[in-house]
Parts: sequence; structure tokens; C-alpha cells
Amino acid sequence: MPNTTIGHPRDFTACEFATRAIRVGQDPDAATGATIVPVYQTATFTQTAVGEGKGFDYSRSVNPTRSALEAQLASLEGARFGAAFGSGMAACHGVTGLLKQGDHIVATRDIYGGTHRLLSGVLPRYGIETTYVDFTDLAAIRAAIKPNTKLLWIETPSNPLLILTDIRAVCKLRDEIIAKEKRELYVVADNTFATPYAQQPIALGCDLVVHSTTKYICGHSDVVGGVVITDNPEIHEQISYIQNSVGAVPGPWDAYLTLRGAKTLAVRMRQHEANAREIADFLVKREDVGEVYYPGLETHPQHALAKEQMSGFGGIVSFRVGGGAARAHEIAKRVQIFNLATSLGGVESLICSPPVMTHKPVPEADRIALGITDDLLRLSVGIESVGDLIADLEQAFDAASAHRLISPGSKA
Ligand code: PLP
Repeated sequence: MPNTTIGHPRDFTACEFATRAIRVGQDPDAATGATIVPVYQTATFTQTAVGEGKGFDYSRSVNPTRSALEAQLASLEGARFGAAFGSGMAACHGVTGLLKQGDHIVATRDIYGGTHRLLSGVLPRYGIETTYVDFTDLAAIRAAIKPNTKLLWIETPSNPLLILTDIRAVCKLRDEIIAKEKRELYVVADNTFATPYAQQPIALGCDLVVHSTTKYICGHSDVVGGVVITDNPEIHEQISYIQNSVGAVPGPWDAYLTLRGAKTLAVRMRQHEANAREIADFLVKREDVGEVYYPGLETHPQHALAKEQMSGFGGIVSFRVGGGAARAHEIAKRVQIFNLATSLGGVESLICSPPVMTHKPVPEADRIALGITDDLLRLSVGIESVGDLIADLEQAFDAASAHRLISPGSKA
């Protein structure tokens, strides 16, 4: 049994997910016995003699509140190492610190707009190029890999169309290439949508996991943050080097809020999913709704894969509105409980128009080819009472119809 005495580190590795979320990295404070990890709001740490202290010197390099968060999140991903960043994008950028000039990335084409901007707008300035392919097509990934490809970038389920990548298959492809060509090739998965509660990319073979902790991990839409997780000590050393050198770290207060939020990840995810399933079913039944994208629906083209590699389907539902862009925007404007806002994963429900609000950095022609068009709406289903959420959507649909933008009943 874990030893609860202050100052004796406890081992929770054998415990279940929900226990680790509340316990790992969160031993009573050795100095005071504080039960909850304190916010070490300090830039620097006083040394007892030159070069001697308690393992902390300067908060960009290491801070105890941040270390607690890193330990907690690494444990939730079933890995040993985590490095927290000041945003999800800073974490994505941290991953690209594994690369050097002349390297190449193969990334899923259905990718978060900000990641697209990093890969296509920023990295080429440093001589790193990215090729985007359909990650549901293994042959296309294989064909895109060049001798200088060093990173395969998975985002599954993807933002905003909830397209899945077969993580095991991509990792197997990496293993084959490494075995044949004796080269470095890493697989990173952006696990923001699924969360470690519903999907464990490290166990499925990924080298790294990246998160926007702004989303489900923090869960309360009050912090912007990110994390990079790996079980590989050499990779972690490089990521930590980038974390300290670039300095895009979260402050202690943000680390504390994220740590606190993540304690309830399991219970929140269960409710997000239960609500999302009901809302997906509600949308499917409506005559004035076109395609509904949710991996938990049996009609999702990759439902079987979702059941195989995920233990839950998450809380994001996207759908096409009959009547097109004008009606979609009218619905987004007329909801009263859902907030019309970018972001996702908080306890409060949000609605957004992906082409306008989250995927602007993706060139218009690519967006259209992908199906990220103006008739698409994305819901981040919160944990309010689902009856209220459905009633809100219903009234917004009705109000948009009354606005006479379409004749009610027309199909997308
Ligand atoms: N990855 C995904 C899948 C996202 O949805 C986002 C943000 O929406 C990010 C990364 C970037 O995270 P942040 O906004 O915390 O920088």
C-alpha cells in the first residue's frame, strides 16, 4: 500500500486512471504537509551554498507546481515523462524541436488550423517542410515519406471532422521503415480531442503525445496550456532542452489550475461522452441536418476502428446544417446555452464555425477539399443537463427556420 507519511514518495503506478489523476505527482508537500500541491509562485529558489539547493534553481527550468502537473499528465498517458508548455501550440512547437534544417514532416491533412500554420507558415523559415496526406490511407503516408522525413504527425480524432487515424498501423509503418533503413523516424499523436481517458497513443506505439491542455485536460476554459509526453528518456531530454531554452513554459498558477482540472478528467469525460452521444442521436434524427460526425455513431465510417483503439468517443460532435452557411451561422448566433466561441473541452458547451473560427490558417481550397465548409458547425458538448442542451439546439434550429433562410424540412 502507498505510504502516506509526509516526505515519503508514494507509488501509484499500479492504480487505475481516476486514482492516478488525483494522486500522481501530488504527495503532501514535504516542507509543510500541505495536502494540495502549493502554487510555488516564485521565479527563483534560494540556494544553501553555491550550486547547492533542493533541486530547484529557476522557474523557467523547473518549478515544483509544474513538475507535479508534468508527473500527473505523464502518468495519465501511461508514460514516464512530461514537459508542460504555455500553450498547445508551444507544445507542438516543442515537438518540432526534435527536427533540424532539411528535415521533413508528413502530417495528416485534417489537422488543427494552428498546427497547420506552425508547420506551413513557420517551420519552412527554418528549412523544415511538411507534406499533408490523408492519414486514413496508409499507402499515401508511405508514398509521402522521404529519406529526410523524421516525423509523422497524427491528429485523431481530427479537428473538426472527427476523422480517425489507425495509430497502430502508422506506428507499424514507422517500425518497418526504421528496421529497413536504420534511421530516425518519430510518430507524434495530438491527443487533445480524445484525451488520455479515451485513448492511449503511447501504448499504441507512438513516440510522443502532444496536448492542448487548454481543452479537456484543464476542462474549465480558464487556462491556455500544452504538454508533450513521451516514455523515451532521450526524446524527453531533447524536449526538456527545448522547453528550457525557448522558455515557453506555463506559470505556476496556470500549472496549478491545470493540475486541479485534470483531477476530474475521468468523471468529466464520462459525462461529456454521455451528453455528446445523446446530442449526436438528436441531430441524426433531424430532417434539417445533413451529415453528423461523431466516432460513437455506428454510421461513422471508422466506428469499428474507434471501438478498437479508443475506450470512449469524446465530447465533440460536428454536423452539416441543411440550408447551408447562412442557416448554420444563424443557428450559431441563436443558441442561448451554448456559447458561440472557439476552443473546446470545457464543462460549458460551445458552438463554432470551423472554417471561420478555427481553420482559417488552412488555405481555402484545401479546406473545401477536406469538407471544412461554411455549412459545418462544431459542438463541444459540455456537462450541463443534456435536456437543456437539446432544448437549446431545438429552439435555435426553430428560430433560424423562422428567420426564413430555408424552408423547414429541406435536407443538406
Ligand atoms: N491541437 C488541437 C487539436 C487543438 O484543437 C488546438 C487548439 O484548438 C491546439 C492543438 C492548440 O492549442 P492551444 O490553443 O492551447 O495553443
